[in-house]
Amino acid sequence: MDKKNREKPRGLRAIRFLAALWCAKLTVPLLKITRHNGTNFPGEIAMKICPEFLRYLDKPARVLAVTGTNGKTTVTNLLCDTLTAAGHRVLSNRAGSNMYPGVATALLTGVNIFNRCSCDTAVLEIDERSSRLIFPHLTPEIMAITNLFRDSIMRNAHPQFIADFLTRYIPRGTKLVLNADDLISSAVAPENERVYFGIERMSTDVTECVNRLNDMRICPKCAGRLEYEYLRYHHIGRVRCADCGFESPAYDYAGADASLETMTVTVRDRGGEGRYGLISDSIFNIYNLVTAVAMLREYGMDHAEIQKYISQVKLVGTRHTDEEVNGVHVINQMAKGLNALACSRAFDYIASQPGEKEILLLMNCLSDERHWSENVCWLYDADFEFLADPSIHVIVTGPRGKDYFLRLKLAGVKDEQMDYVRDEFEAADKLYLRPGSSVFLLYGADDSLDLAFRVREKVLKLAKEAKR
Ligand SMILES: [Zn+2]
Repeated sequence: MDKKNREKPRGLRAIRFLAALWCAKLTVPLLKITRHNGTNFPGEIAMKICPEFLRYLDKPARVLAVTGTNGKTTVTNLLCDTLTAAGHRVLSNRAGSNMYPGVATALLTGVNIFNRCSCDTAVLEIDERSSRLIFPHLTPEIMAITNLFRDSIMRNAHPQFIADFLTRYIPRGTKLVLNADDLISSAVAPENERVYFGIERMSTDVTECVNRLNDMRICPKCAGRLEYEYLRYHHIGRVRCADCGFESPAYDYAGADASLETMTVTVRDRGGEGRYGLISDSIFNIYNLVTAVAMLREYGMDHAEIQKYISQVKLVGTRHTDEEVNGVHVINQMAKGLNALACSRAFDYIASQPGEKEILLLMNCLSDERHWSENVCWLYDADFEFLADPSIHVIVTGPRGKDYFLRLKLAGVKDEQMDYVRDEFEAADKLYLRPGSSVFLLYGADDSLDLAFRVREKVLKLAKEAKR
């Protein structure tokens, strides 16, 4: 392969490749005219006609990639928007289609009909399991792995399985940007050149895990018991083995003095430091920001440049929207179902908010119940215990409502603190909507957004009409 990640097809292969490219490119305007979402389809067509399409496709000279369980989309969007603001011509699958067809679709929009790419940089979000299909044809120059946690068991089995999977398929020439606070993902592909990022001790850190899940309890070197110097949540923190001295890697990019009061964090490295505004008040997003800054530093930007352009980035608020009506805060919050960690983070966040809280738990309320077949074991990995607090009222609803009800009971949530109503709209009638309270509408990434937003409309209407 040449410098631009491309192999020249010859003879019949060249004809087949061009036919694939032209057909795929033709579908792009057609999908627009017919108002179809075309983040996968052109890539699928191209692959059908020419299975090695990605290998022959011209690519930008610089390719950045992001993978990992949580935070991929946020980091990808931060990188893409910052580089675009800095004047680069960037290609990205930022809409979240992160498997082979989505990556192929993003890259093919950047080339002309003669397979010449006019962009200088690609920022690609890559699904962990799709690395097997994508990386034989594409070598990212720099790739971040945000973290590895338990995710959908049917798709991802166990984080250690995904770590081994990535080690097997990540190209040897890719430089890795790894999370030193996550011993599972930071051990991926040990032969590759790498730098580490992390967040220094925070005032909210602990030393004993309070979460149900901690997949890094024993030393990977000697199987001794790991001691946490500080622990943020689950297995995220800095460890040391008392028996053999093994410890977490040192930070090349250290997030320091993270403050939720000033909503800023300093990122420090050997070449300098910069103070950056936080995206939101969740620790997760501090990691996402530090990851993006580390990637941009590796790309070659200095802190002053990154500060200037990253501050112009506005993340689309689809995952967290907040509106106040008649003294009631109505908050839509996405919590990926099947992903115990994302749910635990959401529950912890809600419990830490001041005042009275109400939760309408809409997760996995797909209108089509047949497509939700995964078993419910992940509910027992998620920290529903955070919700066992007298300031919280939970209403569970939808096809899986009874599973959630049972789980909440086992987590110690009292009967008078919760309700179950099968119908999503009728469930909203159970809300107290007291002035000064916050209502969280929790829905999953795979759920019907339309349903979540229609329920939200009803809640806003109820809050508006509530007698004061
Ligand atoms: Zn050890």
